[in-house]
Order: sequence, then C-alpha cells, then structure tokens
Amino acid sequence: MARAVLHGFPVSAGIAIGKAFFLNRRHKGLRHDLVPLDQVEAEAARLEAAVEAVAAEFEQARAAMPAELRGQLDILDSHLLMCRDPKLKNETLRRIREGRMNAEWALEESLEQIARAFARLNVPYIRDRIEDVRVVAGRIGRHLAGTVEKQRLENGRGILLAYDLSPADALSLSLERISAFATEVGGKTTHTGILARNLQIPAVVGVGGLEDEAKDGDLLVVDGLEGKILLEPSEAELEEYILRQHRFDDYERDTRKNAALPAETEDGRRVSVLANVEGPEEVESLRALGGEGVGLVRTEFFYIARADMPREDELYEEYSRMVRAAAPHRVTFRTLDVGADKIFSERARLDEPNPALGLRAIRYSLRHQNVFRRQLRAILRAAAHGKAALMFPMISGVSELRQAKSVLNEARQELEASGLPFDPDIPVGIMIELPAAVLIADSLAKESDFFSIGTNDLIQYSLGVDRGNRHVSYLHQPLHPAVVRAVKYVVDMAHKVGIKVGVCGEMAADPYCLPILLGMPVDELSVAPQAIPGIKHLVRHSNAEECRELLQQALAAPTVQSINKAVRHAVYSRFPDETAFYSSQLGADF
Ligand code: PEP
Ligand code: MG
Repeated sequence: MARAVLHGFPVSAGIAIGKAFFLNRRHKGLRHDLVPLDQVEAEAARLEAAVEAVAAEFEQARAAMPAELRGQLDILDSHLLMCRDPKLKNETLRRIREGRMNAEWALEESLEQIARAFARLNVPYIRDRIEDVRVVAGRIGRHLAGTVEKQRLENGRGILLAYDLSPADALSLSLERISAFATEVGGKTTHTGILARNLQIPAVVGVGGLEDEAKDGDLLVVDGLEGKILLEPSEAELEEYILRQHRFDDYERDTRKNAALPAETEDGRRVSVLANVEGPEEVESLRALGGEGVGLVRTEFFYIARADMPREDELYEEYSRMVRAAAPHRVTFRTLDVGADKIFSERARLDEPNPALGLRAIRYSLRHQNVFRRQLRAILRAAAHGKAALMFPMISGVSELRQAKSVLNEARQELEASGLPFDPDIPVGIMIELPAAVLIADSLAKESDFFSIGTNDLIQYSLGVDRGNRHVSYLHQPLHPAVVRAVKYVVDMAHKVGIKVGVCGEMAADPYCLPILLGMPVDELSVAPQAIPGIKHLVRHSNAEECRELLQQALAAPTVQSINKAVRHAVYSRFPDETAFYSSQLGADF
C-alpha cells in the first residue's frame, strides 16, 4: 500500500508518475528552511546572484524602453534603485549568515522589516516606495525559486508540489521539465488548473494534507482523472497506474487521430470547437489538435511575471503571431483581466479587502486607460494580419460596455492619425460572467457582436462560491439549476438578435456538461487545446435531439442532484467505455 493517498480536485486529465519537489510551502508561498552551517556561504551567493540577475533585467528593460514611453522610466528607475540599494541585500545576507535562514525566508523577513519601518514614517511618498521594494523583492524571490527548481530538476522531469501556485510563480518556472502539478489550495477552476490543461500535464489541486504528508524526493502518482495523489506507492499500485497511464495515453492518441473532423452530432448539429490560450505557442499547436481558432486569449498572461508593462510593439508582435498562426480561423482577444487571483505586478495590487469584487478586469482597464488603449491599439493592428475579434471581461452593464467601446474608438482614431495599418471593423463582443449581465442579456446583445459565457466566474458570482477556495468547492456546481437556466437565458437572448454565443469557461470542456450545452444550443465551445480532440469526438457521437430533451429535463429540475443524475445516466449510456477517462467539475454528490 502507498504511504498515503491524498484527495483533491482533478483539474487536468492524465496520470504522471515521478519524484516530487516542493516549490513553496505555506506562508506567502516561500520556503522556510534552516541552512546547514557549511552551506551558508553558498546560500548567500545564491542571493547575490539573484539580486544581480534582477538588476540586469531592470537595466535591460530600461535600455529597451522606447522614447514614447519615457513616462514609465521613473518606475523602472525606482525599481533599479531599490535593487541596488544595499539595505535590502545586506539585511538579507545578515539573516542568512546569522540566522541560517534560507535566502527566500531571509528576504521575506527583511522585506517585512523595511515595510514596517517605511509605514511608521506615514509619508505618502515613502509609502509608495514600499510597493517598489515589494516588486523588487518579489522578483528576487522568483529568481530564487527558479534556481532551487533548477537544482532539483537536474535529474529530469519532476512533479511540482506547492502550497499555492500563482500564474506569476508558474511563469517563472522551466515548465517543460514538470510532468504534473499538485497544490494544497485551489478549487476546480483556479488558474493553476487552467495552466496545467494548457501545458497538457496532469494536475490535482486543493489536496488537503499535501504539505504535511509529502516530502521532496518522494515517489508520487498524480492521478488527474480521479483527483488522487499516491505517496510512495507499492509495486502493485505502480503497476496498476502504469497500465492506466497507457490506457489513457492510447485513448488520447485515438481521439487525436480524428481531430481534424468537424464537431457535428450524428443528427447534423454543428458546433465550433476553439481553444483557450495564453500565448502564440499554443496557437501554433492548434492545427494538429483540430482547433477551429481561438475563442479566448487570456491576454493578462503576457503581463504577468515581468517587472515592467509591455510596450505596444511587443504586444502587437505577440498578437500578430497568434493571428497569423490561427489563419484562416479567428483569434478572440479578451482584453486584460487582472485583479483578484490574476495579479500581474505588486505595483498593481491594491489593498482591497475583497479583490474578487474589486477593481478587476474591465474595471481595471477603465481606470487605467493608457494601459487599456495601448492594448486595444495592439489588437486592432494585429487584426490586420488575419481574422480577429476582441471582447471585454466582466461587463456588468450597458454603460460600462459603452465606455469600453468609446476607449476603443479613441484607439481607432489614434491609429488612423498615425497611419499604421489596422482593422477598424473588428467584431466586439463581451464575456458574460456576472449575474447582472445575464439578467440584462437582451440589452447587452443589442450592442455586442457576440457573447462568450465565462462559466468559471459566472458560477462563482451566481452561487457565491470563491472559485479558488477548496473549502467551498463542493458548491461550485456547473449544473446547478440556477447556472443551467442562466446559460440558457443568455443563449436565447443572443439568438433572438442573431448573434453567436459560445462558452469559454471550464464547463465547456466537461464531458458531463457537454450534452446540456449542445441542447441549448451554444454555437461555440472554447476549451484548453488539449481537450479539443476529446470534445470533438464526444460531439460527433452525440445526438442533438437527445441533448435537447435532456436540457428540457434539467430546466425543470429543482436540484443539482437530479440534473447530475440525469446527465450521468445519459453520458454513461452513450459512452460506456470512455467515462473512466473523464474528469468532471460536477460536485461531490455527482
Ligand atoms: C471564466 O470566467 O469562465 C473565464 C473563461 O475567464 P477566466 O477563467 O480567465 O476568469
Ligand atoms: Mg472569468
């Protein structure tokens, strides 16, 4: 028997077997270790190297700053100054040498000490400087994490364990060397899971007891189908999981063979299957997976894990690469969705008691219109290279949509004046993620070219369930009657005025939710690239009329349990051999 079997939420399918290494443990995600005496100087050198590397990065960014963005220079300069300031470094070195703290821990303590000293001064200018110190320390911390990771991964691919893994942490890792993730915190639709799906590696999040039970170097099985972690499995368990891994890999290979076929039900209903991506590499892999374009670019990922704001030209290069790679299909750029669990820099982090209800997504863009216009100009310019659309996240009302469109108009005018080529007629849609947007979907539909339903947030805000909180994840139920009715209403309101409606939340990739969405019927499903062949396969073996009847049953059902039971029955009877491979977001009572 394994030393322990831990349970969590399967957020990315597949099975991985390998050695564990911890990226971070609790408390702000940093490791707290006492360094053996004979390694103290090596630890000090690790800190010095990280500080040097970060200073060099700031200097590089400074040198590359174009003339028109000179206003940003002061931010970089103050970061550089903090980085070169001996106080942070010397305090940290002292803690390493005198307290034998590992570099991350020592850095964290020094940062807190400096922040406290600044705060005591109670001068607004100085208080702002705390943010600079945090940015710099965060950056050094990420470098340190990277060096630890490199040391531990020297001998091949490993399974990354963490208390939590923010998008910024994840982007600072050499991801190609990681064969699976598991985190102690996190719910069914956290961004850690989304990242793992996009990387096509298994992941389990919200694993209670992970930190206490797992050690660096343990042999692990990560079962991303059932949401299990086996620590030090027995020979028999290993054999069984190797077999399951082969069966899953064979199934994946089989569905990929037919990935190019259209997603059309056996009775002739066609749905487009597109990809959710974060960067051009994923778009370039889409052809082999049968993706019919990109339904969602999470553009914030390009901003995360860097100290400076990207320049318009950098964004334009990145976006045009995606548009060209997707041709002849469309790329749908969602404008920045930062805030809440997607923080791109400490400088942007606000002291908000309730960030999920705070200055996130379109609210952030409307507050920071320079950042917003720069992104819009880059999207409009990239659209000239092929087919593109743009959409605004977290729209809560018609006037907010109008405001966003008026900034878009300004961006168009600026481009016209500059003479740069761009597509003035790019379709402009919105994400439906708030209950308010559902209730006024008829009004919003009249002013939108398309809708994309972000069920991750729609479920979070409709059911009042934090999407990243494992303690309430059992309530994050995509087939809750309220969610089913909300999605159906949005689909009807869109179709009434003849615009298309897609689903780009994780619900679109859930095999058990698929018949309900096909019954609506939604026009598009946008899923992690890796999920495309499987979803197309399921659509081809579905029957639209049966799905419509199942939906009618769901719309009349009073409880999530009765809907789950009905879909489970429907999916089991159509796909008896395949259900073993599906991981689902449906609740514990499923
Ligand atoms: C969603 O909310 O469903 C969505 C697709 O957006 P994100 O997961 O990036 O918040
Ligand atoms: Mg969302």
